[in-house]
Amino acid sequence: MRPLSLAGVIGLTSALLLAEDPANSVTIVSKHMPGDYDIEYTSPWAGANFMPMSFEENSRWERRTWPVLKKLAEEVPEAGIHFQRVQVYRRDKDIITGAASFDGLFVSNPWFGTLFDDYRELPPDELPPTASSGCEWTSVCINTAIYLPWLVGRCRRHGVVLKRAVLSHIREAKELHHTGRPADVIVNATGLLASRLGGVEDQSVVPARGQIVVVRNEVLPMATISGTEDGEKEVCYMMTRAAGGGTVLGGTYDVGNWDANPDPNIAVRIMKRCIELNPSLTGGKGIEALDIIRHGVGLRPYRKGGVRIEADRSILEDGTPVVHNYGHAGWGFQGSFGCAEKVVELVQAIQTQEKAKL
Ligand SMILES: Cc1cc2nc3c(=O)[nH]c(=O)nc-3n(C[C@H](O)[C@H](O)[C@H](O)COP(=O)(O)OP(=O)(O)OC[C@H]3O[C@@H](n4cnc5c(N)ncnc54)[C@H](O)[C@@H]3O)c2cc1C
Repeated sequence: MRPLSLAGVIGLTSALLLAEDPANSVTIVSKHMPGDYDIEYTSPWAGANFMPMSFEENSRWERRTWPVLKKLAEEVPEAGIHFQRVQVYRRDKDIITGAASFDGLFVSNPWFGTLFDDYRELPPDELPPTASSGCEWTSVCINTAIYLPWLVGRCRRHGVVLKRAVLSHIREAKELHHTGRPADVIVNATGLLASRLGGVEDQSVVPARGQIVVVRNEVLPMATISGTEDGEKEVCYMMTRAAGGGTVLGGTYDVGNWDANPDPNIAVRIMKRCIELNPSLTGGKGIEALDIIRHGVGLRPYRKGGVRIEADRSILEDGTPVVHNYGHAGWGFQGSFGCAEKVVELVQAIQTQEKAKL
């Protein structure tokens, strides 16, 4: 088939798995490409690490992605992924008030307890003063500045052709296949911009604004906690990326906020919270000892009702199928391979239907 996809982590991973089948000839068309930093383009801003956010019933995407990222960390250093221990702390008050109830990461006895070989609950003497309970395991952290170009390289190795274009309506994608013949399936991996793309205009997609501070100080383990004292839009996490990618300090999860500018007051609170949770970040000193590389803001593609992965023949007038894969909020990297696998299944089903018509 002649699929056409887009160039965030979701579009690239979908394109890669489709292109592994030599019967497919894949084009990527995108407004932004790896190397760009733009508020409309989420993937470069991600941490990114693997801390499952799903509940058991929708864990397929993350469950299927973990073995692939683990293998890359073990065998493919050029992908920019390394193993890091992670500690997840819970505060009883966030669990009791339900403040953390949207996030499967903070439940006790989580489904992912059996996903990781070395998962364990933390004894009280290993918890920071602010936590009531917690767990740890060996996870991975991805340097997105290395990983996204690596995905591009893998795609090119499989014959994928990448082109720049801005689509105002999804039907325009059909005529952009590199063979000059029309694309016969379009993978819609437009992330946050699925809210604006003509023919899709999914109003349930909104930004979940994430402000970060990237510093040179290193931290181990990666860590997060279920809530903060600074309001429900403010969160706390930290991770040191592979291969000189710096340490990402976060953050915020502010649904509906499109502001691209880092707020200096929020930045101060982010740094203070991270040091409070792990004082070793600055060797016991204050935020003045943080060596800042940059401040940043990324907009997670949050979708009310969850991710959309399905085939849709109702958009294009001629019935050309569109396979949607957007709305991954804060878990696009850690769910990328599981979701791309589903895209391949949907494209195969379309192919079977087309053959049956002949
Ligand atoms: C601060 C922060 C921390 C995060 N941490 C993590 C983490 O630790 N782990 C994790 O798994 N995830 C994390 N995420 C979430 C993750 O970054 C997203 O889920 C993921 O990047 C979404 O990828 P995407 O490909 O759907 O969207 P995008 O990366 O935005 O890609 C969309 C693509 O579609 C193209 N496009 C859109 N509209 C058009 C159009 N009209 N014409 C042409 N091209 C178009 C864009 O140019 C772009 O190439 C984090 C996000 C943020 C902001």
